[in-house]
Amino acid sequence: MRDKLRKLLQNSYAKYSNYRVSCICVMKDGKEISGVNVENASYGATICAERVAITNAISRGYKKGDFKELHVMSNSNKLGMPCFLCRQVMAEFFDKKTKIIVYSKSHTKSFKMDALCPFPFNEDSL
Ligand SMILES: [Zn+2]
Repeated sequence: MRDKLRKLLQNSYAKYSNYRVSCICVMKDGKEISGVNVENASYGATICAERVAITNAISRGYKKGDFKELHVMSNSNKLGMPCFLCRQVMAEFFDKKTKIIVYSKSHTKSFKMDALCPFPFNEDSL
């Protein structure tokens, strides 16, 4: 997975920050759905790799609960944890036990969804 993520980093559009991010969602059927961060001159229009991959999967017909794992890598020496916009989108579609694996150039750390978002805002909140 590390090699796939590293290769996918090349597709990142990070011309303003040069902070490249790649993401691969592994679905419960075994398919892998990818995304990269896509920056914009209007910085607020930038979208993270995690949300690109998740919305890519939803666009292909996958549903809430179909996500087995999310793998995310940055081109940094530090672990790039998912931002809270992405955690909110994960909370919409992931099970409590969906694994999130975060890669830096040299390190890997794994989390369960309910550890990243112990008190999510979700449909139960409405
Ligand atoms: Zn994000």
